[in-house]
Amino acid sequence: MRISEILKANPQGVSFEFFPPKTEKAQEALRATYAVLKKYKPLYVSMTYGAGGTTQNTTREGVDILVQAKDAEVMPHLTCIGAKRAGIAALLQQYHDRGIENIMALRGDPPRDGRPCDLSGKDFCYASDLVAFIRSQNSFCTGIAVYPEGHIESASIEQDAEITRKKIDAGAEFAVTQMFFDNRYYFRMQERFRAAGITIPVLPGILPLTDVAKVKQFAAIARTTIPRHIETAMSRFADSPEDMEKLGIEFTIAQCRELREAGIGRLHFFTLNRPSVMETILKAL
Ligand code: FAD
Repeated sequence: MRISEILKANPQGVSFEFFPPKTEKAQEALRATYAVLKKYKPLYVSMTYGAGGTTQNTTREGVDILVQAKDAEVMPHLTCIGAKRAGIAALLQQYHDRGIENIMALRGDPPRDGRPCDLSGKDFCYASDLVAFIRSQNSFCTGIAVYPEGHIESASIEQDAEITRKKIDAGAEFAVTQMFFDNRYYFRMQERFRAAGITIPVLPGILPLTDVAKVKQFAAIARTTIPRHIETAMSRFADSPEDMEKLGIEFTIAQCRELREAGIGRLHFFTLNRPSVMETILKAL
């Protein structure tokens, strides 16, 4: 079923994002994680994809594990940076043959090794190109990424709204946000989107706070603010990872509760493939 239809019918619910399992042991862990999380009846589940196609096979294998479980709609992520149209078309056909109806269409990040990334003359420059290409190939429903604090390369958050508009014009039907830890950024983005006439569902992307040092690294790359009180409180437990995780999960639960109280019924979780963390959060909610 198309996720746009699922979201239309379900104002409440959760969705789960996993990363691709690289080894047989990791595949087993994914099966076990999903066995735990499926009882929360996710609206859909998704599987990330390495930019440049680095996880093409492991993403597909992870997708197969989720499809075989037959519990929820499965959405593979797909990035277009450095990709060729023919390669993307072949992968889309494979997904289509597996009964997949939804694709998360992303540009992906340029390599971080300092090499300049020349996007001119490539088959795809931006996620909007991929959304349009997917539309021209099959009848997939496509999701896109949006950024409550603005994409790191964007000149302004207003430009971000314009880019989101372009992706919708190209065919995107729903969006998932980058992680954020201060809900005000999400609420302000929603206001900007409303002002720009953007009406597709925008699911808040929730990253469980477990290890503040690691989250700081992601946050710097992703232009995400970690509120000072959270960073200070969690950093106090630098020598006790279990206590740090316990506190971080409490912050995540508080974030989710505040969103729910503001009428945001659907939450998308970056699960980190960690069932115990997710269970603590979901039970509390
Ligand atoms: P775009 O929408 O193309 O935007 C990229 C930049 O280009 C922005 O600064 C934008 O303002 C600018 N831009 C876009 N269109 C134009 C235009 N027409 N003219 C001028 N400028 C333009 N990465 C992965 O590698 N794998 C994943 O599985 C993955 N999953 C993600 C899931 C979510 C929910 C999120 C939020 C991000 C995910 N990412 C993933 C990260 C994503 O690939 C990066 O954030 C990437 O830098 C931008 O991707 P995008 O799809 O937002 O790109």
